[in-house]
Amino acid sequence: MTDLHPFVAGLPKAELHVHHVGSASPRIVAELAARHPDSKVPTDPEALADYFTFTDFAHFIDVYLSVVDLIRTPEDVRLLTFEVARDMARQNIRYAELTITPFSSTRRGIDEKAFMEAIEDARKAAESELGTVLRWCFDIPGEAGLEAAEETTRLAVDLRPDGLVSFGLGGPEIGVPRPQFKPYFDRAIAAGLHSVPHAGETTGPETVWDALNSLRAERIGHGTSAVKDPALLAHLAEHRIALEVCPTSNIATRAVATLDEHPVREMVDAGVLVTINSDDPPMFGTDLNSEYGVAARLLGLDERGVAGLAKNAVEASFLDPAGKARITAEIDAYTENWLAR
Ligand SMILES: [Zn+2]
Repeated sequence: MTDLHPFVAGLPKAELHVHHVGSASPRIVAELAARHPDSKVPTDPEALADYFTFTDFAHFIDVYLSVVDLIRTPEDVRLLTFEVARDMARQNIRYAELTITPFSSTRRGIDEKAFMEAIEDARKAAESELGTVLRWCFDIPGEAGLEAAEETTRLAVDLRPDGLVSFGLGGPEIGVPRPQFKPYFDRAIAAGLHSVPHAGETTGPETVWDALNSLRAERIGHGTSAVKDPALLAHLAEHRIALEVCPTSNIATRAVATLDEHPVREMVDAGVLVTINSDDPPMFGTDLNSEYGVAARLLGLDERGVAGLAKNAVEASFLDPAGKARITAEIDAYTENWLAR
């Protein structure tokens, strides 16, 4: 089989499920740690590489929280956001919907208006200097309860930054029923935001149904367990409700035991619109290009098949029709040029 890596690396791509803090690479963490020498995070690259070598999921949470602790000022927010876009541009990611949890920052005392200005400033700079278009999904950290839901909704609806397109829900699923968040999603949807909750990652297909019925989900974060319910798969396929599949993340969090057991094949065979994403890439030791490589292997795809996955992400995105047409045309032109070499 041909090595698809060079093709994937240059392929124009869109990413729909990737977290803001979870995208902080060792390079970015080193820059942030240097700004805050009192933190326990190492600043030299070698020690940092060790620090980023995860021993287990609890260690991942520790590292994640220590990175959250480095985001203390609006300038930290701007630096993180722009540098994440730089890492995306290096992978030829043309468009990304970045999931941001503003509650984590405002609760820590960052001024909410300054926070919005920081992400918007980074978004504009990323588009003009790097050619990567960013949009935001503000998500409720489910573990923080209804207080966080109220605060996230208020920030999304009242302060709505120009780049905000969607509203999400993350954190644990067990013990955090989706329907309790219905009033908050209703307000966000009424304000014109799209609904993109995580569901069916660590619980069964009933959570995906809850996300559809209570939260009016237009895409599902993960939805790994949807394959256990043929009627659900048929519903997702019929209504073109995309799944945001993150293969390596699913192994890291033990949602799926091994990559070879990943149900992406069943999703595709059922006709579901599958998109490939990286979730918290440096923290899971991956990036979007690697995830495309994994998907190509699991699905037995050639270059055109991989390009099809990239086009799925564009279709399932909340870009305007002209923007979708432009990136789709870029993907097609790149693929045909590559194959004609
Ligand atoms: Zn996620």
